[in-house]
Parts: sequence; structure tokens; C-alpha cells
Amino acid sequence: MAEAFFVALTASKSLRSYERVGSVKLIGDKAYNHVNLHKRELTSMPRFKQTAEIVKLMGRKENIRDIGIIAHIDHGKTTMTDSLLTEAGLLSPKIAGEARALDYLEEEQKRGITIKTANISLLHEEDGTPYLINLIDTPGHVDFTGKVTRALRAIDGAVVVVDAVEEVMVQTETVTRQALNERVRPVLFINKVDRLIKELKLGPDDIQAKLARIIRDFNNLIALFGDAEQKENWKVDPAKGSVAFGSALHRWGFTVDIAQEKGVKFKDIIEHYKAEKVEDLVQKLPLHNAILTMVVNHLPNPIEAQKYRIPRVWKGDVDSDIGRAMLSADPKGPTVVCITLAQMDPHAGLVATGRLFSGVVKEGEQVYLVGSKRDYRIQQVSMYMGAFREVVDQIDAGNIAALLGLDQARAGETLVSIDHKDGMVPFERIKYVSEPVITIAIEPKHPRDLPRLIDVMNRLAIEDPNLVTKVNKETGEYLLSGMGELHLEIAVKFLKEYAGGDLEVLTSKPLVVYRESTLSPGIVAMAKSPNKHNKFWLQVEPLEENVIQLIDKGDLAEEMGRKRMAPVLKEAGWPTDEARNVWALEEHRNVIVDLTKGVQYLREVRDMIIQGFRWACQNGPLCEEPIRGLKVKVLDSSLHEDPVHRGPAQVMPAARRGILGSFLSSNPVILEPVYKIGVSVPAQWVGEVSGLVTRKRGRITASEQKGPLTVINGYIPVAETFGLSAEMRSATSGHAFWQTAFDHWEKAPENIAAEVIKSTRERRGLSPEVPKASRFIDVS
Ligand code: GDP
Repeated sequence: MAEAFFVALTASKSLRSYERVGSVKLIGDKAYNHVNLHKRELTSMPRFKQTAEIVKLMGRKENIRDIGIIAHIDHGKTTMTDSLLTEAGLLSPKIAGEARALDYLEEEQKRGITIKTANISLLHEEDGTPYLINLIDTPGHVDFTGKVTRALRAIDGAVVVVDAVEEVMVQTETVTRQALNERVRPVLFINKVDRLIKELKLGPDDIQAKLARIIRDFNNLIALFGDAEQKENWKVDPAKGSVAFGSALHRWGFTVDIAQEKGVKFKDIIEHYKAEKVEDLVQKLPLHNAILTMVVNHLPNPIEAQKYRIPRVWKGDVDSDIGRAMLSADPKGPTVVCITLAQMDPHAGLVATGRLFSGVVKEGEQVYLVGSKRDYRIQQVSMYMGAFREVVDQIDAGNIAALLGLDQARAGETLVSIDHKDGMVPFERIKYVSEPVITIAIEPKHPRDLPRLIDVMNRLAIEDPNLVTKVNKETGEYLLSGMGELHLEIAVKFLKEYAGGDLEVLTSKPLVVYRESTLSPGIVAMAKSPNKHNKFWLQVEPLEENVIQLIDKGDLAEEMGRKRMAPVLKEAGWPTDEARNVWALEEHRNVIVDLTKGVQYLREVRDMIIQGFRWACQNGPLCEEPIRGLKVKVLDSSLHEDPVHRGPAQVMPAARRGILGSFLSSNPVILEPVYKIGVSVPAQWVGEVSGLVTRKRGRITASEQKGPLTVINGYIPVAETFGLSAEMRSATSGHAFWQTAFDHWEKAPENIAAEVIKSTRERRGLSPEVPKASRFIDVS
């Protein structure tokens, strides 16, 4: 029978640094014996007994599983992870279920939610064969979905945890959809079965009916969001052992196979609770065993997974050397790492964590970061053990590595060995389901602290790519945008902590982030350069919704280059000349297309026009919010023959003016962000909740009875959600459990748009009137 045989040593707190260390604190007799035997070697040995074993296993690809645990907030992901860690000896068995080993930041402890992504390697033995399970912890709160996305890039399989009482919720859907989108295969753990017995007092039949409903709903998600080829095969099935049931808090769990083998039925579980013999259940049906058995048997190893995942996450040629090496996770291939997390360590500097898709990483190796276009020497390679990094000589394909010395590495970066520097196609941009839609302004209480504030804001932006920091030197505004109020509140806490605790900052009330867009084409606008020697004819029109979706999904990306974008755009309905001539894609879903014919010198000023385009898109003319969903057509141009008269200072502003002029002539609109909202509430309060959502300009799209609760789904504008907690509480006497997640942008009603434009212009110190199109357009 399978058994996790993990027993580890753990370092005392003061040894949290990354060097090899001699002194250790021990947990577990087995570890102690081991250390006695090797006492003398220990000073030069790694901190964890298993390091050597794990390193050995890293070479056996079919015995590796790279997995994550994902869940709706509070469904028990952290508690379950702790239970697995117990087996790793990193926590004493008694406190697992209460202590939260992966939540090592104080802020997380206090709030009881997981924010930082952490990694750990575990050993598990199944039918006498040892397996290496690289486990990446992912946060469960919706505001941090970006972190879940990054962690997903590094893994091939996921255990989705669902609370048996609350069933499948908004965030279960979001994270599962995200996993399927990255071709990460899921298995299901239905947690908190103890609550069905103790709180809801359900009998065996009712329990099974409830569990069957959860499995049905979960499989519906797979049917809805899974890949056509895989989804049938990926549906979970208790009879096949890809669903486990249990209680993470009480540390028992089983799959149908295990239950049959041990002769246990739901009736027996209920009996154990009645007789207060839960300890026996833990002995008989240890949770880690159920979970890890399911992982080993139903989730793919890196060789299997990379075959179908690489074509999804990497758009290079799969028949090239690099492509073939990645498809087979070849350790002898060129080094390719996708960085999934960048963290600042006060001692070590930037620590970049990533998944190796091919080759080996070693200390001293020369590598290249494709996105930031920089060469580096890897200073140190380590693997993860809980919150600790353990230095090793090398790590190879299919595994997760932490690398030091790459100060410009960011989540989403592609790293290759230096000899493949030229022509390496980077990984698909990591796609976030959420966008930062709320902003606060920050300033230091004492002006002398300004440099420190900027310093820590930069650090925060490195670690959390879902936070956008913006410094406006002219107005002295320091802005922090995030995905929700809680996200920003926690970011401010981190700011203070990173600054050493004595930085006092003042923050503004949260503001909603808007976009400027258009619903109809503008006129052909001519704009001259400041020296009048160069002319550009430009026209804007709305970018088609299906093209925006292609960009959202990552099927259309600037990295693909013009040639590979063409067929995708043609398929989407673009005329051939437009599809073939895309110059650039701007991050807010704007595209610039070259439709000129035989304009002399155009190639030399191309990049300057693109820069003017990006500049225009970043600050729209209505109130300097970014423009979204615009197709800019360059129709014609006449350029001065002397390069001196057509430099960036001439071309950039002219291109920008032409775009803004045509945009203003097109009847532009303001888009506001809209959250998807999910509320679960006992039936008697359904009316109050619907009323509240509708009063806030929201709409209800569905409501479904799930056991004693009704789950209401709908949409609500972000602007209407400030203070919603308090109102929801008073409307339902605190009985509603609800979640919001960014869903889409929508045209704001005219009166609201007018108010947004007015107040935003005022705040930014702009003149009250929106400029007329004629200000940006020249007549020949
Ligand atoms: P996460 O947000 O998904 O990481 O959820 P946590 O692991 O923090 O769990 C949320 C809450 O549910 C905590 O109060 C846990 O003690 C509790 N919890 C987790 N698993 C169980 C379980 O199996 N049974 C019961 N009754 N409570 C649980």
C-alpha cells in the first residue's frame, strides 16, 4: 500500500537564509537517528535529509508530478496542504490542521488567507516506487487570481478543493477554467465532509447525493472549459479514483478504491463521528495517502504533459531543436525555463522561480532572458522545501528551480541558454483573468520619506505583477492599482513592512479605473509633425470583439510576429491587406495596422509611429484613462527626405495627434469595469440580495438552490461595490457569503460617463472641457 515516507529536518528560524547550514532543529525520531548516524558530515551537508533522494529522483521524469492545489477561498486548501506537509515532517502531526505552514507571512496569519506562492518538494511511495511531487502553493482569494495563473504555468496537474457544504463556487469556476486553459489536468478533493455529518446531520444517502451533485457540477466545468480533445478523458470519476472525499481539518480522506480496500462505507464514517473515534479514521484513512495516490495515478508526469502543454503555452516551432526538446522534457536539450515567480529576498536579492521545460540549470551557467533582452550568469540554483530554499548543484527538465542572480527576471519571462539567444520565441504572455480595476493614491506623511516610498513601491510591483504602480512626477501622484479593495489594503501593509515598519503613508479613498473606447469609426485625420515637414493620415475604428477575445485568450500576440498573426486575423474576418500588416499590439487591446502603399522612408520611422500609438493609447483624450479596443489604420504619409527632420521628436507627437484627432471625431465612450458576483444565502434572504444588487446597477443572471442555500450569480459595476460588505451584511443579517471577480468592461451610462470625465479631469489638473477633435487635426 502506498505510504508517504517523508521525514525531514527543519531549520530554526534564524537559518532561513539560503546558505548551506550546519545546525538543525529536528522533528521526528527517524530524522534524529539519521542525523546521529551522519552527525559529523552534517556541517557540510544540506539541511534536509531528503535532498539527496530528491535530487536523484529529479532525473526520473516518469516519477515526477508537478502539481498545485487550487480552490475557492476558505474551502480548505491551506489546511489540506498542511496535512501533506506533516508527512514531509515540516510540521508536527498534532498541529497540522491548525497551524498553517505555508502561510508564513505574518499578514497571512492574521487574515487567515494565503497570499504568497510557496513551493515544496515531497516524496511519496506508491506500490514500492518513489515519486517526487513538486507542489506549488497557490492563493485562494479571488483578488490574487493573478498569482494562481502564474503558478499554473509551472504545473501539469491540480487538486481542486471544494467545500462539501458550499459546493462549487465562483472562484472554483475561475481557477478551474484557468487551469484548463493552461492544459493543467484537474482531480477533485471534496473537503469538509465532517460538516455534512456534524453540522448538517445528513445520513449516508443524503451525503452521497450532495457529493454526486458536486461531481456533476465540476464535470460540467470541464465540459464547458476543457479542450475538445481532452475533456471527456479529463472528467473526474469516483469509480476510477480521480475524486477523493474527506476532512482536511481532521486529516482523513479516501478515494473509492481505498474505501473498498479498507472496507469502509459512509455509514462507518458517521459512526466514527458519533463514537468520537475520529483518530481511528486518521489511522485507517490518512488524508495525504488519498491525495498523493490520486495525484500519482491520475495526474501526468512532465514528459506526458509537455507533449500537449507546450503547443498551448509556447508559439514557437515545435519541430525545431528547442521545440522537440521541450515536447519531451529532454534534460540534454537547450535550457528553457519559464519564470513563474519573482521575489525579493533581503539577503539574496531577486529570487526567480520557474519551471524547466528542457535542459539543466547550473550555477555559473550563462543564460539569456528573452523579454528583458539581457545576458546573465546564474549565481545559485536551489530547490524548495516548504518556506526554505535548499542549494543544489543542478536541476533538470520537468522540475521547479529557484535561481539567484537574475535581477531583471519577472513572472512570465522566458530564460534560455545563451547559445539559443537568437530567435528564441518567448512563452505566451501569462494571461490574467483579472485586471487591476481599483486605484489608490499614496503619499508619504513626511516628504523626506518619498525616496523610500518609491523604492518599496518598485519592489512590490516586481513581486506582484497584478499591482500596477504609476508615478506622475508632474502632479506628484503615486498611484497603486490592484484587483480589489482587499488586494490594495494588503499591498499597503506590505509597503510599510518592506520599509522597515516606520514608514507612514497617507492613502486616498479607492477609485475605479476606467477605459476610453469607441463604438464607431472616426474620420481620416491628417496630422503634421511640429516642424511641418511630415504628414500622417490616420483613422481609428472599434476593434472587433472577436479579435479582442483572441488577444485575451493569447491566440493573438505581438510575439507571434506579423506573418503568424495574419492567418489568425484572416480567420477572424479581416481583409487580407489588413491581416498581413499589423505593426503592433498595445496592452490595452489596441492594434495598429499599416495600409500605406509605397511611402518612402516609412520603414525608418515605423517604430516612432508605434511609439506615438502606444503613447496615445496609454492616455486617452477624454480624461487620460487608457484607450481600449481600438484599431488604428495608418493610411498614408509623406516624410522629409532628411532623417534629421523626421526624428522621434517629430514623428511620435504627430502620430499621437492623428490618432487622438480621429478618436475624438468618433463619438468616444467611457468603459467601466464590471465584476461577476456570486452570493450564497439561505432562501429567506434571496429577495433582499436581488434587490440590493439591482439597486446598485447590477443584474442577476441565475439563481440555483444548492441544499439549504441559494446561489445567486450576476454582474455588478465595480464602482458600486465600495461599501457593499456593510450593506450586504445588514440586508441579510450577516447570512450572505459572497465573492466578486473582475469579468468585463462595459459602456458606462452617459450620465455616469460625464461625471467620471469631469471628476477625473479635475483630479488630474486638466482643463474642465474635453478637447475638440480639431485641436489634433491639421488642414493641409
Ligand atoms: P483556504 O482559504 O482554501 O486556504 O482555506 P483554509 O485551509 O484556510 O480553511 C478555511 C477554514 O475552513 C479554516 O477555518 C479551516 O479550519 C476550515 N477547514 C478546513 N478544512 C476543514 C474541514 O475539513 N472541516 C472543517 N470543519 N473545517 C475545515
